[in-house]
Amino acid sequence: MPDAPFPEYTLFITGPTYVRPEVRAAGAWPEYGHRDRENAKRFEPIFTDLAAIAALPADHRTILFLGSGSTAMEAAVRSLVADGETILHVSMGAFGDLWHKISLENGKKAVLLAVEPGRAATVEAVEAAMDAHKPAVVAVTHNETSTGVTNDVVALGRAIKARGALAVVDGVSIFGGAPSGIAASGCDMYCTATQKSLGLNAGFGIGFVSPAAIDKAHHVTARGHASDILAHLDRAAKFQTQSTPNVSLGNQMWLQLEYIVKEEGIEARFARHIAMRDQTEAFVRALPGYDLFAEEGRRSPTVTTVAVPGGMTFSDLKAVKEAMRAKGYLFDPGYAKLNEDFEAAGKRPIFRIGHMGDITPAMLQGFLDVLGEALPKR
Ligand SMILES: *Cc1c(COP(=O)(O)O)cnc(C)c1O
Repeated sequence: MPDAPFPEYTLFITGPTYVRPEVRAAGAWPEYGHRDRENAKRFEPIFTDLAAIAALPADHRTILFLGSGSTAMEAAVRSLVADGETILHVSMGAFGDLWHKISLENGKKAVLLAVEPGRAATVEAVEAAMDAHKPAVVAVTHNETSTGVTNDVVALGRAIKARGALAVVDGVSIFGGAPSGIAASGCDMYCTATQKSLGLNAGFGIGFVSPAAIDKAHHVTARGHASDILAHLDRAAKFQTQSTPNVSLGNQMWLQLEYIVKEEGIEARFARHIAMRDQTEAFVRALPGYDLFAEEGRRSPTVTTVAVPGGMTFSDLKAVKEAMRAKGYLFDPGYAKLNEDFEAAGKRPIFRIGHMGDITPAMLQGFLDVLGEALPKR
């Protein structure tokens, strides 16, 4: 194997994330034909393991989209929102806003319920917005990566279903790090991706669809091709993708999902993420002048956001990023648009610590020790 002509950084950003050496090495395994029987050797376990990680109800189906998380999110909009219908987007930050934008770009009638950054969506606010807009579909972000807030998707999903709409969820930055809540929430399409809490490289958008979603799609016109959930189902039934996948990622995904399900264990993986959240919170509490940004009780198991001391700027955080780079780490100085908005409004910028996927508490502690030195003292 030739030596990389690029530097090695350990990624503590919010995706893509750290990939284990074993998973990297599986990228060098043999290529194969995606319609040949070799394909199913990788992809039957992949589909089975994804369903196990999702605790997927038996009547739901799994689709692998070629692309990333937003590919699955676009498919949800294209396949489930019919002409003349409204989709309500419940947004707590940049990624909720992104999904709303995707709906508008696809010509859908999309309305936005904007929750204050750092807060979770409440059932009451969602119910009031549904009563006002009468949406056929409601889109919710499970884990808002720009603000480090995790929604109670079970409570929200139940409220949405109780008012007769389809519930679609963006679980991109949390799937693999926490329960999906699909069964308990009644969620009709749960969208995620490979490159965040599953600890893989990017390359597939993942969609879990309910029988109601499949039924609904039959009544929606102009679903597109790659964005049509129905067009994927026959291939998915054979553990295949609609068109040619990244076969190296297929090899890596087989290794990684078998590891998650059979070696680490799904419950242990979820518990490790909670432990890393608590570990990061303890680190922040011990830093004078720095504060946890996200609402207490709804802090994410995969990403922690930190408000910096008054007077410290986004530009200072970019300097911290370079100091961390010199120590071999990729640090996240915060979601740019959000920090620019905060600074314009006279609010303190935030930075983010991604602790998702295969990062271990020991790796995290090493990073936090170095970060504690690199952050300006108040
Ligand atoms: C990263 C992310 C996305 C975008 O996913 P891609 O895989 O980059 O398309 C969407 N939503 C959330 C919450 C994310 O964290």
